[in-house]
Amino acid sequence: MVEENLIKRLMTSIKCSVCGHCYGVDNIDVLDHREDLWFLRAVCSACHAQCLVAAVVKEGEVPEVITDLTEAEVDRFKNAGRLTANDVLDMHNFLKEFNGDFSRFFAGSGFGRN
Ligand SMILES: [Zn+2]
Repeated sequence: MVEENLIKRLMTSIKCSVCGHCYGVDNIDVLDHREDLWFLRAVCSACHAQCLVAAVVKEGEVPEVITDLTEAEVDRFKNAGRLTANDVLDMHNFLKEFNGDFSRFFAGSGFGRN
């Protein structure tokens, strides 16, 4: 698959967040993709740290790459409807900041008050 090779080549420009080593094409697996949005798993050949990545690749545009996703996030995005890079990034940031305290979350948004 030509596209898959392109995505993998794109990933080799990304460095491991743990040790700074560049990923090799052989260390990248495509988990899933829908339209322009790709989910990948990269494993660092130097320190073996695993990294989940979402990438949006559109013809004629600079690809957007979002790294540092969790498995749960990837599952959530894969099951969601049509997504853009911004959707993924918004949700990713939300999940990162969200500490699981729904009462505080709803209190902060003004929801659930008497
Ligand atoms: Zn590494």
